[in-house]
Amino acid sequence: MTQQLPQQETTLPTYQNFSELYKHSIDDRAGFWGGQARRIYWHKQPDKILDDSNLPFAKWFVGGETNLCYNCVDRHLPDRAEQDALIWVSSEINQELLSNHPDVADAFKRLGNSVEFYTDYAKRRLTYNDLYKEVNYFADVLQRYGVGKGDRVVIYMPMILEAAYAMLACARIGAIHSVVFGGFAAHNLAVRMDDAQAKMVITVDAGLRGGKVINYKNLVNQAVEQANVKPEHVLVVDRGVMPYKPNAIDIDYAEQRKISHENKARVEPVWLESNEPSYLLYTSGTTGKPKGVQRDTGGHAVALATSIDYVYNGKAGETFWAISDIGWAVGHSYTIYAPLLAGMTSIMYEGLPHRPNPGIWWRIVEANKVNILFTAPTGVRMLKKQDEMWMTRYDVSSVKAFFLAGEPLDEPTAEWLSGHLGVPILDHYWQTETGWPILSHVAKFDHKPHKQGSPGYPMYGYDAKVINEETGEACQAGEKGMLAITAPLPPGCLSTVWRNDERFINAYFGLFDGTRYSTSDYAQVDADGYYHILGRTDDVINVAGHRLGTQEIEEAISGHDEVAECAVVGIHDELKGELPVAFCVLKDHSLVETTESRFRVEQQVIGEVVKSLGAIARPAAVYFPKAVPKTRSGKILRRAIRALAEGKETGDMSTLDDPTAIEAVKLAIKNY
Ligand code: ATP
Ligand code: MG
Repeated sequence: MTQQLPQQETTLPTYQNFSELYKHSIDDRAGFWGGQARRIYWHKQPDKILDDSNLPFAKWFVGGETNLCYNCVDRHLPDRAEQDALIWVSSEINQELLSNHPDVADAFKRLGNSVEFYTDYAKRRLTYNDLYKEVNYFADVLQRYGVGKGDRVVIYMPMILEAAYAMLACARIGAIHSVVFGGFAAHNLAVRMDDAQAKMVITVDAGLRGGKVINYKNLVNQAVEQANVKPEHVLVVDRGVMPYKPNAIDIDYAEQRKISHENKARVEPVWLESNEPSYLLYTSGTTGKPKGVQRDTGGHAVALATSIDYVYNGKAGETFWAISDIGWAVGHSYTIYAPLLAGMTSIMYEGLPHRPNPGIWWRIVEANKVNILFTAPTGVRMLKKQDEMWMTRYDVSSVKAFFLAGEPLDEPTAEWLSGHLGVPILDHYWQTETGWPILSHVAKFDHKPHKQGSPGYPMYGYDAKVINEETGEACQAGEKGMLAITAPLPPGCLSTVWRNDERFINAYFGLFDGTRYSTSDYAQVDADGYYHILGRTDDVINVAGHRLGTQEIEEAISGHDEVAECAVVGIHDELKGELPVAFCVLKDHSLVETTESRFRVEQQVIGEVVKSLGAIARPAAVYFPKAVPKTRSGKILRRAIRALAEGKETGDMSTLDDPTAIEAVKLAIKNY
């Protein structure tokens, strides 16, 4: 079963500094990644590190055989069987819920879950040994129902441990998981089930969000009805929150687990060729129809293991908390796979940032001695609106660094956070497609000092440059262009769009004749070599012949102390082509309750823009909604706001988080 592994750390290549490391990664890709490949266990060593004969499709570690689950779990048993692998905390499971839903406590028992209940949260610690057993039971159940190598399994679950078991169990048996964010509606789920042609769907009776019960099972039933490709089975983890009537294709997980548990089931890992897919994940859909990102197996494992060391400076035994849903790339890479590959403890949190109170993050940090934090700026901005007391109440001295990604990190938010934590607040930039950072500061090396306002510089393996879209030439310092990556992409990045090689080529490599991957984000490099993201290529507006990034205007506005969040969009103007208008959510909405006070704040906001960008960027109007629409992943939906500002229909809103935000924007426009 578990092979004793060679002490691999000692055989890793060493680099004097980051410049040397980076240069090696670009000048000798195979040499560099061949060295990094030693970080994981290979059942069979690769025959060839890189096959770049068919670019833009790159194959990494060709002929190598490995298994993600084995690397995340089994591999740590000799050394860390009793160390926590996952710590699950739920602020949704609290006394109030337990008394309203008396079956919940019993459901945990049925699932073999020894949960500790507190007044306002529940917690379970799971050692590597526990995780090993649970993943084996789960894999056994999947096999019992005919799921095997290459089959697609849709996971539609909240942040519970069984979701992690499900992902790892799929990886163990070579099934391809496709986690669909639990907040998506039945239609979104059906579309993804069809695209993936899912054989099985794994779900729960219900999810919980801010104390509200979300009927997952019913949503799955609707999706199964709508789907053209019907799954053979729906595996239900019954949490005892909401009774449901089982359908013919439904399987009760607790019942099946009991059988596997009694049999002490062990499932041999299925060794996959490195380029065989490990999972599918759809992009956020901020700009259009989501793309099914396909991830390989070996490259994914090597890339993540390497990033934990070089980028995050994480060590085995330390605790990593990526505050993200498993439905997003961050949740895949940094809540589940990377920390486990590295032998760390990872926190899984079911709950909101401000419940039971805005101190919950810091309380979890204190209780579990979290060393590295990672989330999207949107959550931090929400906490920034609250009383400072919540931030200062807890001992957060275990934290070494706080990483942020997913959208621009405005300086006031970064400063607020660093003022309280006293550790580096590191913005870094990546995409679902890449699965790990393209631009970052390396925490491991004493490289360039960290510069606030920049997500850093290209990471090893990424030949990333700012390119003039028209000429294809590299831009000079200070010149704005498209951030592009010369093919091949490094290990861990998407191998293709699921069953759509053409879309892979057209969407990403079309602009530069197949030689470069386009990120669709504008960027510029400053005189010191730091990169700056200037917004998405479709968020650029043209005001009387001047091209302005809406993000630059937003940054200027965030200089205003009372602005908690803002979105700038361009609206059509007969005279000037386009004009910027701003939507600002204030920390205290009562500031704009009278026409007079609103006018005053509007002038202040406009003043901030004119001060930093000049009169050309002057917003034609500043609206003050109570909220702005966002995707489920917390990104502002500018295309929806733009439509509303122009009095049009919002179009496809399937990824919208909170529908009341649309009403809030409409109201702000009406009241203007
Ligand atoms: P879709 O591609 O379907 O429109 P999406 O691009 O929002 O959706 P993701 O892959 O989740 O889906 O997000 C990646 C994008 O998020 C980047 O291309 C960039 O626009 C933005 N982003 C990520 N990190 C940062 C950062 N540190 N600073 C600024 N923007 C960032
Ligand atoms: Mg994108």
